[in-house]
Amino acid sequence: MRSPSTTRLPFHQPKNATRGGPIFAGRETAAQLSTVLPARPMIQLEGVTKIYTMGENEVRALNNVDLTIAEGEMVAVMGASGSGKSTMMNILGCLDAPTDGRYRLDGIDVAQRSDNELAEIRNRKIGFVFQSFNLIPRTSAVRNVELPLVYAGVRDRGVRAGRALEQVGLGDRQKHLPNELSGGQQQRVAIARALVTDPAMLLADEPTGNLDSESSLEILRLLVGLNDAGRTVVLITHEEDIAAFAKRVIRLRDGKIVSDQTQHKRMQIAQ
Ligand code: ADP
Ligand code: MG
Repeated sequence: MRSPSTTRLPFHQPKNATRGGPIFAGRETAAQLSTVLPARPMIQLEGVTKIYTMGENEVRALNNVDLTIAEGEMVAVMGASGSGKSTMMNILGCLDAPTDGRYRLDGIDVAQRSDNELAEIRNRKIGFVFQSFNLIPRTSAVRNVELPLVYAGVRDRGVRAGRALEQVGLGDRQKHLPNELSGGQQQRVAIARALVTDPAMLLADEPTGNLDSESSLEILRLLVGLNDAGRTVVLITHEEDIAAFAKRVIRLRDGKIVSDQTQHKRMQIAQ
């Protein structure tokens, strides 16, 4: 069963698109502040349940989940196939609504919002990274990265997209098409696209699932660096090696959280 996130892009044009602020502004300040102020919640799930109905059958993909993730955390969500990871990602990313329960994203009660408002919240607050990269084929790297800015009605798109590509180490690949890039490079373009709107949170669903171990490490290095700069990162994975880099590991089984551990000594990546 394909979840919606793998088949469509995670953004579309809200009717009353606002202009975005300058790229990457403010995040560093948040990181500095977080050492003196208590971290505010980025994600709050309360009793969240998601039921899929297939004819006579009901699948409880998430079952009464409570979860709080603070600004600046890097959380790995783990669990066997079918345990509800992608369902959780879709709900956290406002791509899908819970059947029951409440979700607050950065203090906003998501259930109270119209589809149009949700699209705008999603555009502004969340950057998505998927296992399958989801780049637009026959479209250059820089144009792919610009896309969320088009939807947000931002000017200076080329400049900002170029800067985002530089940030992921692809400043010299702007005109390349996706099929002219390696898997690891394509995923870096996808991360640049996720970052270009300066979102508060990155949601990554198995971002290294299609990559060899060296490219996986490159992607992890980027995600850890972004988290070190203060950005909240939620990373879905079924690989322990990958989860070792997170500050916190949550395990799902049959739609429930069965463990939630803080990793005081997260694995360090040699730079
Ligand atoms: P994971 O990402 O951990 O592999 P998913 O969240 O994709 O798990 O799926 C959790 C459960 O919900 C599975 O039993 C799956 O078959 C079911 N499921 C997921 N998406 C749908 C859907 N769109 N329609 C019906 N059932 C679904
Ligand atoms: Mg999945």
